[in-house]
Amino acid sequence: MITKPKGTTDITGNDALLWEYVNQVVSTMAQTYNYEFIRTPVFESSELFHRSVGETSDIVQKETYDFKDKGDRNLTLRPEGTAGVVRSYIENKCYAEPDVKKYYYNETMYRYERPQTGRMREFTQFGVEVLGSNDPLVDAEVISFQYYILNALHIENLQVNINSLGDAESRLNYKEALVKYLEPHINNLCEDCRERFKTNPLRILDCKVDADSEILKNAPKTIDYLNKESKERFETVLKYLDILDVDYEVNPRIVRGLDYYDHTVFEIVSLDNMDTKANVLGAGGRYNKLIKELDGPESYGIGWACGMDRIINMLKEINLYKDVKKQVECYVMYVSEEEKMYALEITQNLRLNGVVTETDCLNKGLKGQFKQADRLNAKLLVILNNEDLSKGLVNIKDNATKDEEKVDLDEVVEQVIGRL
Ligand code: ATP
Ligand code: MG
Repeated sequence: MITKPKGTTDITGNDALLWEYVNQVVSTMAQTYNYEFIRTPVFESSELFHRSVGETSDIVQKETYDFKDKGDRNLTLRPEGTAGVVRSYIENKCYAEPDVKKYYYNETMYRYERPQTGRMREFTQFGVEVLGSNDPLVDAEVISFQYYILNALHIENLQVNINSLGDAESRLNYKEALVKYLEPHINNLCEDCRERFKTNPLRILDCKVDADSEILKNAPKTIDYLNKESKERFETVLKYLDILDVDYEVNPRIVRGLDYYDHTVFEIVSLDNMDTKANVLGAGGRYNKLIKELDGPESYGIGWACGMDRIINMLKEINLYKDVKKQVECYVMYVSEEEKMYALEITQNLRLNGVVTETDCLNKGLKGQFKQADRLNAKLLVILNNEDLSKGLVNIKDNATKDEEKVDLDEVVEQVIGRL
């Protein structure tokens, strides 16, 4: 038997229903916030991720799926969404448009990780990127958008952990202070951290192995190294988040150690789920330097991504979603071949008029069809028999009250819709 590759999953049954439900909430919210849908390729030039996500990031060092195609091109399955969106923004010269670009995406990502709950090799992220504005209003808008999507899904006790890295000058000052502080302690940290110390010291604060170490807990804080302008900017973002009623906490440990991040960085957790290592539902930050880094003009960008798989796992624990079931509005029942032809036509007419409809395709008897209708939670049954059909009539039965009534065959669609 052929089995699925390690770290992938089949989304079926009730999970698939939840999945569709979340997708719907995401796209509806995106519309109300005026974000446009974007879809970028599942594979890109490897160089795109090396230059955007960064050579020293965990993603590029350990996690990418790289391959050569038959034309000897170096390609990588996308491990995250920002790089592709920014590439597209530059390649299509969207920066020349008069307005900011506000994108949302919802697609699979690929990272070679050690599979565990909430950590897969193929997983799905929905996310946003806003390109072309440095207004703190945008920082507050994207954060509140993420917060209120999860809120709309009834995930409770949400908290946004937020921090600021400041501008280039502030970051540099901070990096110096951090290196000075860590130097005498570095041999007490994990092997990866010792390596990061040389290549990308900020990333040490993000380490999962040393997460609880006192050394990291007492490390200098980025916000103490912000210059006046960066500090004021951060305070404005927080003021706007207060207006938007987002529950946040300033958390100096959030650094998102990629080189291109500046100013606002954040992640969102559900405090109900703190015992698992995969409790971060989404994360993001401002990346003003990235557009230039990818050969675009001087511009501005900010975005976030949420992990769909982790969100679905959370929803499954919330009582509210226990009874998400397939719900069919109408089930059309028949026995003979003659009745079947009517059933086919009526089913189609109901469907084309927006009624969720099913009929038998396994040659079940009436008893079997009643049972299937129950399994599908059908609200109404349209029951056909030759005798009634010859008089131009069909039976509509309410599957809950069991009330049954004969109606005109020609009016069956209106009669069904009227009863829903
Ligand atoms: P973590 O620190 O948990 O490894 P990350 O910093 O690598 O997360 P991001 O790149 O910021 O994660 O991705 C944003 C979100 O995507 C995460 O908060 C998480 O919900 C989800 N995510 C990341 N990696 C995976 C994965 N391998 N499987 C499932 N979801 C993931
Ligand atoms: Mg990771």
